[in-house]
Amino acid sequence: MPELPEVETVRRGLEAAILGRRVRGVVTRAPALRWPIPRDLDRILPGREVVSLDRRGKYLLLGFEPGTLILHLGMSGNLVFRADRPPAGRHDHVDLVFDHGLARLNDPRRFGAVLWHERGAGPVEAHPLLAGLGVEPLAEGFDGAHLHRVSRGRRVSVKQFLLAGEAVVGVGNIYASESLHRAGIRPTRAAGAIGVARYERLAAAIRETLAEAIEMGGTTLRDFAGPDGVGGYFQLACRVYGREGLACGRCGGTIRRIVQQQRASYFCPDCQR
Ligand SMILES: [Zn+2]
Repeated sequence: MPELPEVETVRRGLEAAILGRRVRGVVTRAPALRWPIPRDLDRILPGREVVSLDRRGKYLLLGFEPGTLILHLGMSGNLVFRADRPPAGRHDHVDLVFDHGLARLNDPRRFGAVLWHERGAGPVEAHPLLAGLGVEPLAEGFDGAHLHRVSRGRRVSVKQFLLAGEAVVGVGNIYASESLHRAGIRPTRAAGAIGVARYERLAAAIRETLAEAIEMGGTTLRDFAGPDGVGGYFQLACRVYGREGLACGRCGGTIRRIVQQQRASYFCPDCQR
């Protein structure tokens, strides 16, 4: 599944390719996604310039003068800019056509979303899908004090607490395991029982892990390709994720795999407490 680093990789690639460019046409082939693709995009967008390209959590926000196109890549989606305009394949849902190529949304499992938010409806940050999202892990305001404050009284495991997205967005399963290992915190530890100093280490570890993954173009090797169609390589650099039975690079202990809320967690029992 595309996680925050993959979506950020897509965002950066699209920003380089289409920011400041004008949409010439919209081709919708298969409107069935999580919600139907709005039918009037081919009326609203042609002639409009892409004036901003932002990300909130795992949502991509393409800003135009009359409003914002909100995109989510779902479980398996990708948004690729292609200068060579290849013929459309089976799961290609929609193309934004530009003079120099096209941005194509491909989504085999159709959990993605394309929504239009009109400027007149208020700031896009207040959209129901975005309003409840936690703090951005790479933005100002995300630190150990924040994690400590919002975790008080919480009995859920720290792994679940991260995945829930209320405290911080975009720390998915792989990044949660990796960040907890770097911070030396066991994934089963109750969120409310962790002190502020350890949360400071965790916040730093989350930033580092995500920044490295973005640097490498995201994690998922098989399903995910960046905006130029090249897969991510962070998975090759994982310290615990997918490494059950192997030696911990920090202490030499043996990495274990457990299941929490139906998701695999990997940790080192010797240096994560
Ligand atoms: Zn270890």
